[in-house]
Amino acid sequence: MSSPRKIVIVGAGITGLAAAYYVQKKAREKNLPIHLTLIESENRLGGKVVTHRENEFVIEGGPDSFVTDKPWGLQLTHELGLADQLIPSSEDRKKIYVLRNGKLVEFPGGFRLTIPTQIMPFLKTKMISWPGKIRMGMDFIIPARKEDTDESLADFIRRRLGSEALDRFAAPLMAGIFVADAEKLSMKATFPTFLAMEKNHRSLMLAARYAKKNPPQRKEGAIKPAGNAMFNSFRKGMSVLTDELAKRIEGDIRLGTRIVSIARSGSGYTVEVDGAKPGKIEANSVLLTAQAYTCAELLAPLHGTLADKLREIRYVSTATVSFTYLQTYIPSSRPLDGFGVMIPGSEKRKILASTWSSTKFRHRAPPGTALMRAFVGGHRNEALVELPDDQLVAMVRKEYEELFDITAEPMLHRIFRWPRGNPQYDVGHLNRIAEIEKNVSELPGIFLAGSAFRGIGLPDCIHSAQLAAEKIIA
Ligand SMILES: Cc1cc2nc3c(=O)[nH]c(=O)nc-3n(C[C@H](O)[C@H](O)[C@H](O)COP(=O)(O)OP(=O)(O)OC[C@H]3O[C@@H](n4cnc5c(N)ncnc54)[C@H](O)[C@@H]3O)c2cc1C
Repeated sequence: MSSPRKIVIVGAGITGLAAAYYVQKKAREKNLPIHLTLIESENRLGGKVVTHRENEFVIEGGPDSFVTDKPWGLQLTHELGLADQLIPSSEDRKKIYVLRNGKLVEFPGGFRLTIPTQIMPFLKTKMISWPGKIRMGMDFIIPARKEDTDESLADFIRRRLGSEALDRFAAPLMAGIFVADAEKLSMKATFPTFLAMEKNHRSLMLAARYAKKNPPQRKEGAIKPAGNAMFNSFRKGMSVLTDELAKRIEGDIRLGTRIVSIARSGSGYTVEVDGAKPGKIEANSVLLTAQAYTCAELLAPLHGTLADKLREIRYVSTATVSFTYLQTYIPSSRPLDGFGVMIPGSEKRKILASTWSSTKFRHRAPPGTALMRAFVGGHRNEALVELPDDQLVAMVRKEYEELFDITAEPMLHRIFRWPRGNPQYDVGHLNRIAEIEKNVSELPGIFLAGSAFRGIGLPDCIHSAQLAAEKIIA
């Protein structure tokens, strides 16, 4: 029997854990002996996936759910036997508000992100002025852009729908998903379907109406999400998924261990680690799932151009601040009757958004209580992430008082900081990634995966893990 292939995976977030799981699965299928080492600098597994459970509250520090229109999250959940633990987002309470002149205005129905698909809710909405509506209507006649170069979300929306649509709808909603600056966010990397809509139908509104009449059919045999909802989560929180993955991994899992260097060694590599168990590990293959800037420092001695390209991927810092309340302290004039509120930059508030977690998902808070989560930081107010806990809590309380009339002290609060944790897909991102992929292919046995590259959402991270596992085993 041949000696086992030595595989080192760096980072035990969803990408590293899923990659370890798929590497083992594929090796088993091919009867290939492997020895797996998973290295994680923190003392816990999961990376950005972190669920805190206290007094029946389920508080998420990072992702609270995953989208169900991309298959990889659902597929992995079913494969791990976790389908019975899935819960849908509360489709009966899916209002979204946007702040306008300090007031919460309901996002009109019949919109596909920023594009109206129904005429009446669009005409009635107070979110946008009449001149703004007329400008949006010009989308019907504006010709499609001919050039195929990348452009920013802001340029795209301004060009097709006008500046008001950008400020009122697109920047808070679309750029909000990526915690990014709409002026810098790459259309090609983040909303390619909108580009295809323009290319194929000229007008976004015509394309959206066409899509409404001809909804994409779920592929035969495709897994149905819980409640047929747009978002699914787990009854006990997102870490159910990462905990289950961790249970399935056979190998050497090293927590509190940081990779500090990678050097060539024969046809493979020597990986040096410090922390809990310092030393050197020999590897045939190394998969890096840490932040791009960390990968850059590790790979610089092996491939300078690759390291330079990796350094170009910017990151911003964010924090989530969760509060729990007795329901009686939520003013009846402002019930938490939706998924939450998105806040445009023009409102000059300190928080980016507030998710009303116990409305968005059932099973998040015990009866008679509410759970809310504020997003802080991003490109607008990055320095706020570093405020001491008491000041951060005071700041969010003040925001909640001014926005929602909530004056009560929260029963409990939980803060999670993500310093340099959110990769930014700036204009030109896909070209940059293509170059990174070409450069990394010049280092046999080195692989990259994770949120920095081809999708920040959990399903995309899982997909990138799957693809990396295939390459490693091939
Ligand atoms: C606040 C927030 C909310 C989000 N909400 C959603 C959501 O609702 N739905 C969704 O789909 N996505 C969401 N995302 C995005 C998603 O959570 C992330 O893109 C995804 O979890 C990233 O996973 P990853 O494994 O690629 O990276 P990470 O989770 O960052 O894992 C990388 C790991 O590498 C480790 N590491 C770093 N350096 C080293 C080193 N030198 N040695 C060893 N280990 C190292 C880190 O400690 C970390 O554990 C959210 C993100 C944030 C921050």
